[in-house]
Amino acid sequence: MSEERLHHIGVVGAGTMGSGIAQVAAQSGFDVTLYDIGEEILRRATGRIAHFIRRAAEKGRLSADEAEAAIARLHTTTNLEAFAECDFVIEAAPEQLELKQELFGRLDRIAPAHAVLATNTSTLSVTQIAAATGRPERVVGMHFFNPPPLMPLVEVAAGAMTSEKTVQVTVELAERLGKTPVRTQDVPGFIVNRVARPFYLEGLRLLAHGVADHATIDRLVREGGRFRMGPFELMDLIGLDINFAASRSVYEAYFHEPRYRPSLLQQRMVESGRLGRKVGRGWYEYGGEEP
Ligand code: NAD
Repeated sequence: MSEERLHHIGVVGAGTMGSGIAQVAAQSGFDVTLYDIGEEILRRATGRIAHFIRRAAEKGRLSADEAEAAIARLHTTTNLEAFAECDFVIEAAPEQLELKQELFGRLDRIAPAHAVLATNTSTLSVTQIAAATGRPERVVGMHFFNPPPLMPLVEVAAGAMTSEKTVQVTVELAERLGKTPVRTQDVPGFIVNRVARPFYLEGLRLLAHGVADHATIDRLVREGGRFRMGPFELMDLIGLDINFAASRSVYEAYFHEPRYRPSLLQQRMVESGRLGRKVGRGWYEYGGEEP
């Protein structure tokens, strides 16, 4: 697919990442179709996206007219058939292999033959997701960071069957979205999540061993280590459920390597519904504000 043909981006999942990716795409001049499984989820997502785009205009990052034009380019749907119009699809649904494979099987039947199907997975195998389609050469990993409008890095991961052309189209798209693409191999966690996994897990081990409370660990990491956030603040930003799923997935994928063993504390937090900022509480309380 030539770059000129890439006008319309489909985004699957209107959660933390999907809504951020849809915002970036609409602000970059693309028509965007955002899919999720419920109208209410989409209504909240479009409210958030419009709010952030208008706030960017207030800060002078784009004009008020450009902001309204970007908002008008964003369409939502609960019907995946709407992706028949898309040139490029970015999937940001929950981190579960069967769910993503099922989605990619459907997307393969619906999206035009020239369309690239990208997954924003953090830890799952791009090759395995691609195997659920009849076009594995056009399936690629396109891993954004949270929050997508602010974080410049995008990891572009070729699966075993991904063509070089697909990687190039994805790299070019990331650049048109104002991002810095970095090519990586299809290994669990790619580069950043593999490096980051011990960051969360050591913090959780310190907490489990009663060495310090979570707020102290965060503060020391920030003030002593010069990190922008400590592990517990970052887990709240990412979403405890998503972070726990990533921990489990990396642990499984590396044949139960003890360094990556997930923590029961993470599991307990997820079971109790304390999923982080997106629900107003996780390791910290967020005062019921819309995140
Ligand atoms: P999230 O829980 O915030 O959002 C997931 C969305 O998917 C929800 O809106 C949910 O309604 C929707 N969904 C559920 N079932 C679906 C289905 N069958 N089809 C389509 N949509 C469905 O999750 P998130 O944090 O946005 O993560 C999404 C993906 O992005 C995951 O693969 C995750 O690993 C990856 N990722 C997350 C982060 C992060 O910091 N949160 C960073 C990079 C990548």
